[in-house]
Amino acid sequence: MSKQILILPGDGIGPEIVDEAVKVLACLRDEHGLDIDMDEALVGGAAIDATGGPLPEATLELAREADAILLGAVGGPKWEPLPYAVRPERGLLGLRGGLGLFANLRPAILYPQLAAASSLRPEIVAGLDIVIVRELTGDIYFGKPRGTHVNEDGERVGVNTMVYTESEIRRICRVAFDIARKRNKRLCSVDKANVLECTELWRDIATEVGADYPDVALSHMYVDNCAMQLVRNPKQFDVIVTGNLFGDILSDEASMLTGSIGMLPSASLDEHGKGMYEPIHGSAPDIAGQGVANPLATILSVAMMLRYSFGDEDKARRIEQAVTRVLDLGLRTADIMSPGMRQVGTSEMGDAVLAALGEE
Ligand code: NAD
Repeated sequence: MSKQILILPGDGIGPEIVDEAVKVLACLRDEHGLDIDMDEALVGGAAIDATGGPLPEATLELAREADAILLGAVGGPKWEPLPYAVRPERGLLGLRGGLGLFANLRPAILYPQLAAASSLRPEIVAGLDIVIVRELTGDIYFGKPRGTHVNEDGERVGVNTMVYTESEIRRICRVAFDIARKRNKRLCSVDKANVLECTELWRDIATEVGADYPDVALSHMYVDNCAMQLVRNPKQFDVIVTGNLFGDILSDEASMLTGSIGMLPSASLDEHGKGMYEPIHGSAPDIAGQGVANPLATILSVAMMLRYSFGDEDKARRIEQAVTRVLDLGLRTADIMSPGMRQVGTSEMGDAVLAALGEE
């Protein structure tokens, strides 16, 4: 049966970059035998304008039925005056929560052709290829008790609770071990087990799960050391697994090592491998409508979809190789432009990837 893909263009540059990714999906369907059906729906500001809310019930229903979701980006100045509860970003949170997307995968890849874009020296980052697996639905962001109150001394107190159940840790560790197994077979579990009991449990469970993966070398690292190692020698890592809070910070740090926000895809997966795939960047209102946004992060999100939701490694690689080829040709959107390269717009970049897809 055909795989169902729900396309959510969203706001700002979202529709422009998603158009290019849809061209890639259509090409794989028409010329390379990818058996898919695509449907489109509203989310974010576009949904607010049309229906009054950022995540219409019809969109959530289509998202539930889909095998995978491709999202552009949401948000923009137009909707900033709205209360938090009905802002475009709520649409994303609603999708993540509503679909149980607990595993966030963020590769940080530095294409050798773009080594100059990093703020670190090229020899430290050239060839960087790591994946951060962040738990997305637990930890201090959801733990109770939470809130602020006034104590008996009349002082205001803020409280949040770091909490993980054994099963939550186990399932995210399994995702990370499975990914490491398909890569260079090294997994680093990041915690703060020297001071936080919750993460001491994390370390114990990671070790227990590791017994089922004797082919993967498991190491443990404290989060403060990991933050340092990521800028000192990031290529020591293959796959990193960590909780929601630490992962939030470390994945942003890792993505910035590459210096090219327009290049990085992400995936958020549920227990059955269903996923929502999106570039890590936002809706870039400053360049929306100009046809200059970089579509490669969104196109590479399609590669992640094929790899993680459809198990189609061949076509995932085909897309990644097409992107590499286009960079080798010297084509650059404005965000990754450097002297001597040829600057192209959004659709020209998408067309170049399509042309490269056809080459063996
Ligand atoms: P942003 O990622 O949209 O933009 C940051 C900078 O990077 C801008 O200068 C932008 O022009 C540039 N940029 C981003 N993507 C690019 C691309 N593909 N090609 C070329 N340049 C690109 O972050 P921001 O400006 O902080 O946020 C803008 C809006 O996006 C806000 O409303 C924010 O809430 C929203 N946002 C949405 C998501 C999401 O949908 N997942 C994520 C982050 C921010």
